[in-house]
Amino acid sequence: MIVNTKLRIPISNASITELERRYVDDCMATGMISGTGSYVRRFEQALATWVDRKHACAVMNGTAALEIALTALGVGAGDEVLVPAMTFVAPAAAIRRMGATVRLVDVGEDDWCIDPKRVADHITPRTKAIIAVDIFGHPANFYLLRQFGLPIIEDAAQAHGAQYDGQMCGSLGDISTFSFFANKALTTGEGGAVLTDDDELAERIRLLVNHGMTPQRRYWHEVVGTNARLSNLQAAIGLAQVERSEALTGRRRQVAARYRANIPPQWGFEGRPVASERARESCYLFTLLHPDRDRIIRNLNDMGIDARRVWYSISEMPLYMDSAFGEYPVSERICQQGLSLPTSALMTDAEVDDVIECLGRAVYAY
Ligand SMILES: *Cc1c(COP(=O)(O)O)cnc(C)c1O
Repeated sequence: MIVNTKLRIPISNASITELERRYVDDCMATGMISGTGSYVRRFEQALATWVDRKHACAVMNGTAALEIALTALGVGAGDEVLVPAMTFVAPAAAIRRMGATVRLVDVGEDDWCIDPKRVADHITPRTKAIIAVDIFGHPANFYLLRQFGLPIIEDAAQAHGAQYDGQMCGSLGDISTFSFFANKALTTGEGGAVLTDDDELAERIRLLVNHGMTPQRRYWHEVVGTNARLSNLQAAIGLAQVERSEALTGRRRQVAARYRANIPPQWGFEGRPVASERARESCYLFTLLHPDRDRIIRNLNDMGIDARRVWYSISEMPLYMDSAFGEYPVSERICQQGLSLPTSALMTDAEVDDVIECLGRAVYAY
């Protein structure tokens, strides 16, 4: 993450405690610092238990997790994969890197996730899978997405601790992925995971992550794999973060609730409408829309508040021109008007109030 040191309230900040330190120290003391150490297994088991999944495989980052998930499903040249136009670019880039075709789908007005009403328009005989992104901590509409009968990869990078129909995000796709990058609700600095309930898929995922090496026969390779392992040091941090997950995600929810309750409607911001009662949101970055977004961000930055714009809609980028089929009005409006406010488990109520006060000044200062 790019940190501007002139900004007194950063966009996010990782919460590292004695527990993380203790596990990392322990790991260092053993000398087992590679991806074959015991904290990797402990982290995977804790993660699988937390989100109620049979298998979790730790990997080096959330982007690798997506590439492994696509490879495990056999996605390659000639295949098409649907992905929302309004997301951080990683899932779209992962599809491209597999040699497959990205097909962008607009997002819904209500949940800002891939819009099931538009999915049918994009399905062709070559469609191999759907990547559903739980954007900003809000689960996609899995109930409707499952009706298409296509494999679903859930990108839960932004949704640690969120739920859909009482089930944890990270357990809702045929394969689900997490990122543990430093600004996510749970972090290992850089890190990720691939999760599934399917034994065969899990076996393939483990093979791919570890050079395609047959577990029963050292240096014998039956598939072309890679090394996407997470190190034991990072897994040690990850284990502590999973053990602290209620506190980490709970505090982020409180920060979001304080923003929501105390930003007055007359300032002209529009939040994501609270969507289905099936969803229990977590909060990645608290994000609002405003027609005058760029000016407000400039003013906030001048006051030392690290507010950020939302990504560009993938449909707006020339690189992905051949992935756009039709119009993407909802994605493009969110990306043109969206701003994210500082959000982390370390923020105090006073800091949230400080951001809100500055936000008010930023709205009225020209
Ligand atoms: C952060 C993020 C990723 C990528 O994760 P890395 O660990 O940074 O590779 C993928 N998808 C989404 C939606 C993300 O927010």
